[in-house]
Amino acid sequence: MEKVIEVKNLKKKYKDNEALRGLDFDLYKGEILGILGPNGAGKSTTINILSTILKKDEGKILYFGEEISERNINKIKSKLGIVPQDLAIFEDISAYKNITFFASLYGLKGEELEKATDYALEFAGLTSRKNDKPKTYSGGMKRRLNIACSIAHKPEILILDEPTVGIDPQSRNHILEDLKALKSNGTTIIYTTHYMEEIEQIADRVVIVDNGKKVEEGTIGELLDKYSEENLESLFLDITGKNLRD
Ligand code: ADP
Ligand code: MG
Repeated sequence: MEKVIEVKNLKKKYKDNEALRGLDFDLYKGEILGILGPNGAGKSTTINILSTILKKDEGKILYFGEEISERNINKIKSKLGIVPQDLAIFEDISAYKNITFFASLYGLKGEELEKATDYALEFAGLTSRKNDKPKTYSGGMKRRLNIACSIAHKPEILILDEPTVGIDPQSRNHILEDLKALKSNGTTIIYTTHYMEEIEQIADRVVIVDNGKKVEEGTIGELLDKYSEENLESLFLDITGKNLRD
């Protein structure tokens, strides 16, 4: 299987706080990879480094087999879609304009930009509300708009950081179904969460992180077999001695 991202021995400190202590994992083309871990495990730090928003201290990241350099950074970034943990949308301008703004950062313009915006609105189920400002939206609709802004340019790899925190079950399901649909259209997805149910619902594979390191990796079936457990919750407790909901 083709590796589209390889993370090797990734380290990051904030002053004395070692957020990542040598994290390793691979992302395979076409899969949905779940990064599961409790608060403070290092998920956002990992995602922010992968997104090139944050600098790593040590380690190596390969995108499509290459390390990022001045020569390839624009090409690589154009293949990524980033959905940050905190909403990155403008509350006071219409959903339509939000999407065109972000899509234009990826170089789309003219008719191509209009088509991309319509596609993203339709995808997120927001077409009928496209002229409304996000400040009039529910939390779930804002989350869906946040995702729409990051997929209009049809990224090869979509990177999401806890995209379903604090929203109603209906919006959550909508988002999870959207991610599955993107996957069936060929998008590779990496997704962090501390909700085991979501991993069970959509992930092909899971990397379990705790204290800035990988503690396990595999398909859910493989891991449950290995630890003779029936669900991810007790599996997590087995491996880390911690409750995911602490
Ligand atoms: P997660 O997303 O899994 O909750 P984070 O990557 O946000 O974990 O955090 C990992 C560790 O790094 C935590 O101990 C957190 O307190 C710390 N941390 C995260 N961001 C910062 C920051 N900007 N400055 C200092 N410490 C941080
Ligand atoms: Mg986080």
